[in-house]
Amino acid sequence: MAKKFRNYINGKWVDALSGQTFENRNPANWDEVIGVFPKSSKEDVNDAVKSARKAFEAWRLTPAPKRGDILRKVGDLMVAKKEELSRQMTKEMGKVLAETRGDVQEGIDTAYYAGTEGRRLFGHTAPSELSNKFNMAIRVPIGVAGIVTPWNFPMAIPTWKIFPALLCGNTIVFKPASDTPATATSLVEILIEAGVPEGVVNIVHGGGGEVGNAIVGHPDVDLISFTGSTGVGKKISVMASETLKRVSLELGGKNAQIVMPDADMELALEGVLWGAFGTTGQRCTATSRLILHEKIHDEFVKMLVKRVENLKLGDGLKKGVDVGPCVNEDQRKTVQSYVEIGLEQGAKIVAGGEIPKDSNFKKGWFYRPTVFTNVKPEHRIAKEEIFGPVLSVLKAKSLDHAIQILNDTIYGLSSSLYTRDVNGAFRAIRDIKAGITYINAPTIGAEAHMPFGGVKQTGNGHREGGWAVYDFFSEWKTVYIDYSGGLQRAQIDNY
Ligand code: NAP
Ligand code: MG
Repeated sequence: MAKKFRNYINGKWVDALSGQTFENRNPANWDEVIGVFPKSSKEDVNDAVKSARKAFEAWRLTPAPKRGDILRKVGDLMVAKKEELSRQMTKEMGKVLAETRGDVQEGIDTAYYAGTEGRRLFGHTAPSELSNKFNMAIRVPIGVAGIVTPWNFPMAIPTWKIFPALLCGNTIVFKPASDTPATATSLVEILIEAGVPEGVVNIVHGGGGEVGNAIVGHPDVDLISFTGSTGVGKKISVMASETLKRVSLELGGKNAQIVMPDADMELALEGVLWGAFGTTGQRCTATSRLILHEKIHDEFVKMLVKRVENLKLGDGLKKGVDVGPCVNEDQRKTVQSYVEIGLEQGAKIVAGGEIPKDSNFKKGWFYRPTVFTNVKPEHRIAKEEIFGPVLSVLKAKSLDHAIQILNDTIYGLSSSLYTRDVNGAFRAIRDIKAGITYINAPTIGAEAHMPFGGVKQTGNGHREGGWAVYDFFSEWKTVYIDYSGGLQRAQIDNY
């Protein structure tokens, strides 16, 4: 019998009011059912929002350092359960164990950061232009936060949102991706065990169209923090404008790595292998394009193909496996269809390009790590997010040309340049249009205490991570205290 999971609303584990459920299976082995989850609807969301609204009144008055103490305990519990959480995540969404351990670690880092932020939720004081008057701006909680997350970082991304939201004094209605509801449930269990009061955190499982929409449209939800595809992000933006919610959108990417002739070739090769095929290419920051200077193009492609062909595909729990399956059937179909589009538009496959035929892959959503050469900047595989193990190689005549190609997309999340030329590196840092630029490191590798997010259609200008996310989850309140005993008119009495 598959394990049965529930929603957590108002301090109680409950089924969906409709009684409906959905199943989640291991993408490396369809026969393994991870669990059965409530298929919730609008009514369940209404209950969760009511619970979060009620709990807000006490939670907003809990001192921030006390809220931080709970989050520090959350970090301790995550440390204790790191291995268990990592294994559950690999079974649930397929990425290899080393990477799911990293995903949990990012959650731990985020918990400890939030823990200390409770004693450091700084405001500002500034001098007044009038005598005997005191000015300050303080951070205040906002209210009920709707949290909608994807499956590719099923622990890290929810923690990036939920921990700072809670620390700032907001309460939560959380809808995780339908592909990773078990990991999300484990996170909520940890929050409860650490002492988050009843009603402060609520989780509602179910489909994006149903549960996600209900949260975004709910008049009593004050803010939405969403990570996912650009298509869904745009819909959320439109819908949330009806009630003028504050909305943070972290969306798609089409990230590129540039390699110049003066770079350390071995290092650049390690970088692109990790950037393109880590998490089976299913990262928002995945290296989807490799832009090679023409002088080293042929030699680098030769080295790359050799290494890509040796990447070991398989179940992420097994030792020695480099690349796990795609998360589900749809995702693999998308990958397959982009491979066909690439061929139709004239690109050439030099590695992979197929579903593996061996019998040990037949019960998982596996796809061979794939490399295309002869890719032109106007090709769809050079422009559109694929979100799978497919790398498009492009050729550039110079650094400026490479940067021009890199910028030629609607997205702007991550970017990378391998070079030993410090002048070129600083020019690239200035001219690349992306939220994140790595020098001599791959496009993936965000650290929890640094701002994270993208420009252009990757987002709407907010940042997660580090100190920056606290601006999203709190509101500035400006306070003037006049202790002069008389009416003082700003801009008038003093000029
Ligand atoms: P997705 O299809 O957009 O789904 C993301 C979340 O939104 C899921 O929980 C989904 O629920 C829900 N959802 C779907 N339709 C909705 C709607 N109409 N209203 C409200 N919620 C809705 O994205 P995904 O396939 O899970 O994740 C991959 C995408 O996320 C890629 O584009 C990737 O680049 C992006 N991503 C971005 C970042 C970043 O920080 N920039 C990080 C990671 C991933 P269901 O699961 O039930 O469909
Ligand atoms: Mg699954």
